[in-house]
Amino acid sequence: MARRIGIAGAGFAGAVLARELAQSGEYSIQVFDERAHVAGNCHTVRDARSGILLHQYGPHIFNTSREDVWQYVNRFATFGAYTNRVKAITARGVFSMPMNLLTINQFFGKVMNPAEAREFLARVGDTSIREPRNFEEQALRFLGRELYENFFYGYTKKQWGVEPTELPASILQRLPVRFNYDDNYYQQRYQGIPVEGYTSIVEKLLDHPAIEVHVGERVSPKDQSQFDHLFWSGPLDAYFEHELGRLQYRSLVFERFDAQGDYQGNPVLNYCEESVPWTRISEHKHFAPWEEHESTVCFREYSKLAEPGDIPYYPLRLQNDKSMLQRYMESAGKTKGVTFIGRLGTYRYLDMHVVIGESLDLAKVCLRTPMRDWPKFSATPL
Ligand SMILES: Cc1cc2nc3c(=O)[nH]c(=O)nc-3n(C[C@H](O)[C@H](O)[C@H](O)COP(=O)(O)OP(=O)(O)OC[C@H]3O[C@@H](n4cnc5c(N)ncnc54)[C@H](O)[C@@H]3O)c2cc1C
Repeated sequence: MARRIGIAGAGFAGAVLARELAQSGEYSIQVFDERAHVAGNCHTVRDARSGILLHQYGPHIFNTSREDVWQYVNRFATFGAYTNRVKAITARGVFSMPMNLLTINQFFGKVMNPAEAREFLARVGDTSIREPRNFEEQALRFLGRELYENFFYGYTKKQWGVEPTELPASILQRLPVRFNYDDNYYQQRYQGIPVEGYTSIVEKLLDHPAIEVHVGERVSPKDQSQFDHLFWSGPLDAYFEHELGRLQYRSLVFERFDAQGDYQGNPVLNYCEESVPWTRISEHKHFAPWEEHESTVCFREYSKLAEPGDIPYYPLRLQNDKSMLQRYMESAGKTKGVTFIGRLGTYRYLDMHVVIGESLDLAKVCLRTPMRDWPKFSATPL
């Protein structure tokens, strides 16, 4: 008889795993999602009013350098060519992001070549900071005060809800600048957006005779006894009913507004100033440049600390969280019959291609290992 697998969460982590295990013919799989739809945070839906494909939980651009992941998603979708180019609005005007030669030259009113720009930044950087102890010092060390204050201070404070001095230096790359005119946000080999959206991919992944899908149904750890094994892509601390405390997340609030024509001329504009309460505005028809729409739908995005009941988006991973995470990992080590997967189950920020790659890898491990030895995590959370 096929062994019974339960999967909490119908995002990419759960759906890819369900599909891969189903294909072996050895398992009967039940996938549950507490939301009314599949695809988790990657959910896309056609807006009834405008016909525009909306990314309901924020803009999602697919990017990867993993050949197998790219081939895999292309089995379930046609991808439209898309290059993510973001602009940043600061107190001194609008600039190209990520910070590149155009940004630096326009910001300082200069015409520097790559070598000159490197030298210039080395001069404006605060070299008295030898070992940056936090995000702010890291930025001051490598960019100097003007760039830091205009591009990073307000945005970071809004995004993370704390002073940049409270964030680890590691959040910022050593030198978050490109010394060329490349404004492509991603540096991966492949990039695109599925023409029919992400939800269509997940529906196709789950469309298999060995998979049953239940939306609008929450799995409780108590339900585990119904299955031979449970994969948990919900929050790690929720599985343990927060017995050691709550891992902190940032949540998002999206404020929709509609307009005619082209509202902002770009899919995403970041707002760097602290006095502007939102972090960015996204205009969703620009994520499908192959479509034509007369009207337009935009979302102002606000960041806040996730409270019980809010959707957890970005793991905060401050020092306290990491200590608590370590203790939850010890608890997980003692459990039987459950594997924690995906961004919530492992308490990490993960792009879609990473989640898909980890589920593909995990399925391979499960298919060649006795069930009692299946791993506790799809990848180590620390
Ligand atoms: C604002 C934002 C923008 C992003 N942009 C990009 C991008 O441009 N490119 C990119 O590659 N990635 C992006 N990501 C990351 C992407 O969203 C994740 O990689 C992806 O959602 C991870 O899939 P998952 O299955 O791990 O988690 P999720 O998509 O969160 O799915 C988990 C699901 O589990 C369900 N669930 C939880 N607990 C239970 C329970 N007990 N019972 C039943 N169901 C439960 C939840 O309802 C949810 O639907 C972005 C993320 C955010 C927050």
